Amino acid sequence: MIIAGNFKTNHTRSSTLAFCKELDFLLQEATSKVRIFPAMSSLPYDDFKHFRIGAQNAYCALNGAYTGEVGLEQLQELKIKTIMIGHSERRSLFGENNAMCYEKFHYFAQRGYEIFFCIGEDLITRNQGEVEQFLTHQLKGIDLSYSKLVIAYEPIWAIGTGISASLEEIEQTHMMIKKLGAHKVIYGGSVKPENAKEIMNLKSVDGVLVGGASLKVSDFYSIIQQGEKQ
Ligand code: PEP
Repeated sequence: MIIAGNFKTNHTRSSTLAFCKELDFLLQEATSKVRIFPAMSSLPYDDFKHFRIGAQNAYCALNGAYTGEVGLEQLQELKIKTIMIGHSERRSLFGENNAMCYEKFHYFAQRGYEIFFCIGEDLITRNQGEVEQFLTHQLKGIDLSYSKLVIAYEPIWAIGTGISASLEEIEQTHMMIKKLGAHKVIYGGSVKPENAKEIMNLKSVDGVLVGGASLKVSDFYSIIQQGEKQ
């Protein structure tokens, strides 16, 4: 299983470090691929033994005049080789469109990065029966055969709402994404210790991306343990 925690704009530098140290200790026996995406100012060196650190975002340039952004050079200094692209909050709050996401994908794929590429529809799109069309469009131009690509399917209406998509909705949508050619598809949207196991039990689910429930080590570790038993 691939199990990733997205801290968003939560945790300070010191609490992120304390979290990471505790998690590294807990994961000594774990076999899942675990990733932590801290806030930008809290990014530690990616030198933990049992999981890797990823950036929630980065600009597609080595360095330069991109105020407020972090580029490749800053990630390289921290030995970070994992990046998230296109989270729905980046798309909706910061105006990242498909073209910007594609540009980032190509830039970081060319440099061998592990990429968590986020896609997901809003409720209107789902209710109108246009999920397939919408997600296909979000993936247009992305090389789905890229070996270090993880697609994170995150229906916007399930993110941070406490209500995850139904098992049927997750299974159907993941199957559809896999038919398009994606190899690894993980689910995100109100995953918590109470529902993680049944979600990870689904055939088409290769892991989970966890927001709110990743902030406490005990909750996140409980989710990881449930993935271990798959
Ligand atoms: C997310 O934002 O990536 C996410 C899945 O959030 P939550 O788990 O809080 O719904």
